[in-house]
Amino acid sequence: MEATVKKTGGKTHGKRCIAAGCSNVKSAEVAMFLFPKDEDLSKAWAKQVQRTRKDWEPTKYSVLCSEHFTRDSFDESALLRAQVGIATKRTLILKKGAIPTVFPRVGTSAVGQLSTSTSRPARSAFAMRERKRKVEELLAESEVEISSFASTEESMEMATDTDMAPEQSNECGGSYHMELEGLKRMVAFFEDILEIGTLVTDRHRQIAKWIRENMPYTKHLYDIWHVAKSVGKKLKAICKLKGCEDLKAWQHRIINHLYWAVVFSTQDDAELIVDKWKSVERHVLNLHRGHGGKFPTCAHKRLQSRAHKKKWIKPTVKLEKLVTDKMLCKDIGKLSAVHQTSKVEGFHSLIIQFAPKSYVYSYTGMLCRTLLAGLHYNENASRHTATTKAGEQRFKIRYPKYKAGGHVVKKILVEATFSYVDDLMREVVDLCKKPSADRPVQLEEPPTLSSAMEKPDKAEAIKAHASRFKTK
Ligand SMILES: [Zn+2]
Ligand SMILES: [Zn+2]
Repeated sequence: MEATVKKTGGKTHGKRCIAAGCSNVKSAEVAMFLFPKDEDLSKAWAKQVQRTRKDWEPTKYSVLCSEHFTRDSFDESALLRAQVGIATKRTLILKKGAIPTVFPRVGTSAVGQLSTSTSRPARSAFAMRERKRKVEELLAESEVEISSFASTEESMEMATDTDMAPEQSNECGGSYHMELEGLKRMVAFFEDILEIGTLVTDRHRQIAKWIRENMPYTKHLYDIWHVAKSVGKKLKAICKLKGCEDLKAWQHRIINHLYWAVVFSTQDDAELIVDKWKSVERHVLNLHRGHGGKFPTCAHKRLQSRAHKKKWIKPTVKLEKLVTDKMLCKDIGKLSAVHQTSKVEGFHSLIIQFAPKSYVYSYTGMLCRTLLAGLHYNENASRHTATTKAGEQRFKIRYPKYKAGGHVVKKILVEATFSYVDDLMREVVDLCKKPSADRPVQLEEPPTLSSAMEKPDKAEAIKAHASRFKTK
């Protein structure tokens, strides 16, 4: 008979660990385990508990917490995922037949009460330490990240994405809601190891609301590229209107102005950013002074000779409406000057390469592909620019769709490397050499999306289908 040691969330919910001096409940670091159904194994567990709690006998409701197991009692692949910074619901999964052995003697204080502080096993902060170490590593890495984004060639630090556990869309009701769910899990992951001072996301209304309500001490900023893209689209539409044709020459400059207004202002001065942005509407009319608010005069030099060459435009209500739009200005005041989300977007498009959307993968398959994408990304995200034999940097010219015939100059990077493949192969060979009991057990998969649907009787379904048509 095989022991079924399961960490069943519902059954252990709210229960306290029965070990002497330990009153742990389920938390981010501590998992709870019901006593095994297998009698022999259950007796072995009870015997261990009795070392520090005489005459105690388990019931079917008794639970022990993860603190009483040594590290090698847990499924390695799940632990590994936790160590590389991937938050999953179950990072602590017991191996089959694992027996709890960590039961420190409970120190008794003068008044004879249990003192829980001395009874905590030495390994208690293990998971937390590991996460902390990983976070510090990530932060150190993000300092050196330099990349180019959409339309400017500014060097910027990039945000780092750490939550790689696949979510099934039925867990949270659709892909739009998945973004919010992902954020919640990310915040839970960093809770108590990292104070999130500033968070940069795209303009997702629900996310903004959730952050406002749940993270009052966090400053929420938006990624510039997303806002610039939507302004660009609207500008393009205005250019097509009658009487607004001249605006076309300004289209890209207005977007560049948006980047400039944000990047060359201090983040704490949202008003200045917005006033700088608004000044563009007067600048294109050849008016460079007397703008309102904190930015009364254009930052450029006098345009005496150059002024005649430029194609200034006539005032249009459409442009004014777009530039001074209240919602837009509010968002522009919240644009991030330093951190952008392009690295995260880059990682997401890499996942698509490892797990194309046109195929269906099992949960484990999706998880493995996401992990592979993560390994590939970590190894290759900060590649240098390739150089010629003479030592000169190499570039290429591209004609992206969004430039509508225009070109962009891009750096050619050195070729990607795949050392992680060798590491994985070595790991697999090592695992194969171990006795089978020491190998990680199969991951538990959540039920598939279609399993939640009711399936009709096939014969009846065919009958109902056929009856819709008049057949002779
Ligand atoms: Zn315990
Ligand atoms: Zn000007």
